[in-house]
Amino acid sequence: MGHISVIGSCSMDLMIEADRRPQAGETVMGKRLIVSPGGKGANQAVAAARLGEKVYMIGCVGNDAYGSMMLDTLKENGVNTDYVSVLDNEATGTAHIILAEGDNSIIVLKGANDKVDKNVVDSAFDIIKTSSLVMLQHEIPMDTIGYIIDRCYEEGIPVMLNPAPYMDIPEEWIEKVTYLTPNEHEAALMFEGMDRDEILKAHAGKVIMTVGKEGVVYGDGDDVVHVSGFTVSAVDTTGAGDTFNGAFAAARCDGLPLKEAVRFANAAAALSVQKIGAQGGMPWRSEVEEMLS
Ligand code: ATP
Repeated sequence: MGHISVIGSCSMDLMIEADRRPQAGETVMGKRLIVSPGGKGANQAVAAARLGEKVYMIGCVGNDAYGSMMLDTLKENGVNTDYVSVLDNEATGTAHIILAEGDNSIIVLKGANDKVDKNVVDSAFDIIKTSSLVMLQHEIPMDTIGYIIDRCYEEGIPVMLNPAPYMDIPEEWIEKVTYLTPNEHEAALMFEGMDRDEILKAHAGKVIMTVGKEGVVYGDGDDVVHVSGFTVSAVDTTGAGDTFNGAFAAARCDGLPLKEAVRFANAAAALSVQKIGAQGGMPWRSEVEEMLS
């Protein structure tokens, strides 16, 4: 079996629930703190590993308690962390989330994620170049992403880019990657001036667009294929996109045809939204198989 390399972010999510968010200069009492490992890179690595894939995480954490927690969680989920650098002078990335009045306010501290540079990539390149698939997101420096895309393209290694959070990317990246997995919102920004069907037909088989509970749409030649999502009662959709990406990568690496891989990933993502937390709800392979049977 081949392996997947995820080059991306490892962050700790620090979520405090409160009745309302404080005004400038004000202190309010919170209700509870939920500390959970996250970061799109780590989330997608865990999603694929839980589905039985051999996954290498390539990234950076700080030499601190959150960094140790991140590494422990990755390992517990079967993700190889040999290529996660522990940096002495950087803090592990954190997301500081206030959940109040039904809405999130978030401050992200990139910390060690901002140090995922060419050297980190080069030192893991033996693993990267033998991957069945390389997975990328937008939570590490953009010039590092460009470097990885170029090197993988030269070596003929398939790359899946999840362009989240949204940032402008060069047209050339879109040409060079095998899969681009925006949600609707990201796709609209990325392909400004094109409607949904135009985007999908122009990048048939490459742009796999997630459309929330509706599932996924993609182009097949001159047709647009819609693979419906699964109807479930959602509790927390945080990490639905990450679960989808990890599961889609796993299914393609296992050789499932495109449509079946999308259906598999829709099932995994639908299972994930039924539990709280990004990684908390990510399913194991048997759960997805049961849902599909
Ligand atoms: P997030 O940022 O919340 O992690 P996203 O915006 O990247 O997600 P979405 O398009 O919202 O991505 O969802 C990704 C996939 O998750 C969908 O394609 C679908 O398979 C599944 N999904 C999302 N929401 C639901 C839901 N309410 N019920 C069932 N499946 C869902």
